[in-house]
Amino acid sequence: MDTLTALKTYFGHSAFRPGQQELVEGLLAGRDAFGVMPTGAGKSVCYQLPALLTPGVALVVSPLISLMKDQVTGLEQAGLPAAAINSTQRPVEQQEVFAGARSGMYKLIYAAPERLLTGDFFKAMCELPLSYVIVDEAHCVSQWGQDFRPSYLDIAEFLRRLPRRPVVGAFTATATEQVKRDIVRLLTLRDPVQVTTGFDRPNLYFEVRQPRQKLTCLLELLEKRRDQSGIIYCSTRRTVEELCEVLCRRGYAAARYHAGLPDEERHRNQEDFLYDRVRVMVATNAFGMGIDKSNVGFVIHYNMPKDLESYYQEAGRAGRDGSPADCILLFAAGDIKTARFMIESTDNNEKLTAAEQEKVRQRDLQRLTRMTDYCRTSGCLRAFLLRYFGEEAPDQCGNCGSCLGETVEEDITVPAQKILSCVIRAERQLGYSLGRSTYFLILKGSGEQRILDKGLDTLSTYGILNEPLDRLQGYFNALEAQGYLRYEPEHSTITTTPAAREVLFQGRKVRMRRRLEEHRPSASPLPVDQPLMDRLKKLRLRLAQKGGVPAYAVFPDTTLRAMSAAKPQTDEAFRQLPGVGETKLHRFGPVFMEEIAAYLKENPS
Ligand code: ADP
Ligand code: ZN
Repeated sequence: MDTLTALKTYFGHSAFRPGQQELVEGLLAGRDAFGVMPTGAGKSVCYQLPALLTPGVALVVSPLISLMKDQVTGLEQAGLPAAAINSTQRPVEQQEVFAGARSGMYKLIYAAPERLLTGDFFKAMCELPLSYVIVDEAHCVSQWGQDFRPSYLDIAEFLRRLPRRPVVGAFTATATEQVKRDIVRLLTLRDPVQVTTGFDRPNLYFEVRQPRQKLTCLLELLEKRRDQSGIIYCSTRRTVEELCEVLCRRGYAAARYHAGLPDEERHRNQEDFLYDRVRVMVATNAFGMGIDKSNVGFVIHYNMPKDLESYYQEAGRAGRDGSPADCILLFAAGDIKTARFMIESTDNNEKLTAAEQEKVRQRDLQRLTRMTDYCRTSGCLRAFLLRYFGEEAPDQCGNCGSCLGETVEEDITVPAQKILSCVIRAERQLGYSLGRSTYFLILKGSGEQRILDKGLDTLSTYGILNEPLDRLQGYFNALEAQGYLRYEPEHSTITTTPAAREVLFQGRKVRMRRRLEEHRPSASPLPVDQPLMDRLKKLRLRLAQKGGVPAYAVFPDTTLRAMSAAKPQTDEAFRQLPGVGETKLHRFGPVFMEEIAAYLKENPS
């Protein structure tokens, strides 16, 4: 069977996504492989397919039980036998898994890195014909990554001790150049086929809002997304608690998640979310790695995170099944303070010297600045993100708040002149520059003590632009974005650039785009038949409950959407749907087609 046919037969996908084929074929040809692909890009297929097509058993090293469980469930639903070894099993159960693997019952087994060198496990692995050792979340091996896990260092030793070294594959979503080098070296990969695919996730819509009332704005957003599940990220545990309570009181099926909750509740809430028993998860960034739910329709950040790395990773949990999904950040100036506070109060690794700690702090502050820039840019948000991660991107993506938002263009030359001369004069009088919020106070003519103490009320520009705060913010954003003002991260101050003189003295006009309100077409590639979609979802839920699996393991939303549009009535037509392979066709095709037939009978048109 060629790889493309196998992809359709086992997984129901009709084409490879970027990078997948190279990695699959590399592994099949017996070469080590290393894939860096963003969340949702489809890493699992890259090693599951070779594992299915090669004699023997593949061992997948994975950091979390929940991740393993999810993968095994997914494989089982697709009719592909797999098992996990984990600490919740009794020794006899583990022996059964080993026996099953020896008898050829399983093609993949999953285990945590801590287990590799333990006696029973290692012995069992030596007795198996291991086809591959696959390392998932491979960045955990590097101390430079975000989630260093010392037991990942045992993987190399494990490989060395095996009687025969299997082909090794490593996969991760996040790796800087340094982390990539670490992965190759520490996992002892041998001349691997290496693929890094782009960071772009075209199905994600990005937007930043700076609402006066975050709660009102959030409720509005949720109201428009009644039939989707989503995550709301907050920066503190307290906000999580409060927000979750408000939402529950208002009748939303919401649950909370943060590191301060008992394990048992966290676990329960996570499961409720995975199994669609609750629709909205309100969480801190502790809710993260291992959340493999593919049908998350939106990720809303109630607070700005501390850097774009975190933001992109968290936002990226939306739309893993490739359906259109929304990533919306609700920004307020206060978020900067919170983030700063968290950076300053982070427990520094005591292994670092004072100088190194200072370097880390500076780096974190710079990342925070870039995060803030993202919130303030009036340019394309996707372009901003991709360029931050070192990729090229067109100026307009057509699927973000900036590209789709309705904007009006205003001439802001006069306020711009006032602001620029205010900054220049203050610098001249003091001999140093000030931060944004101080300039706001001066421009508004605020009588605050710190203004009077510095004698700033004597500036001729004191009180010359008494406009609402969000207007002032808008002007500053535009002036920074257009290069008339510059933010200096060292002391969080604002200063003018040489271009400012053109505005002040050479009659240069300044224009600003201001967003009116978000409005975008609800993007859906197919005309969905909503009443039918609702029925199919109910059917899916019943099947999922019967099988004790999450709904998306039966079929992801993408499949249901296509089903409701295409209304297939034959195996041949059903097979064409995305996400339908042979096993699922036989297992679920008849019931779903029956439901569609019933619907068509009731609604002849
Ligand atoms: P990752 O591990 O990279 O985050 P997954 O392996 O979980 O991503 O895949 C994400 C989603 O993409 C899954 O729903 C999967 O079924 C789907 N997928 C993977 N490969 C393809 C493909 N070639 N065509 C269509 N969908 C795919
Ligand atoms: Zn855009």
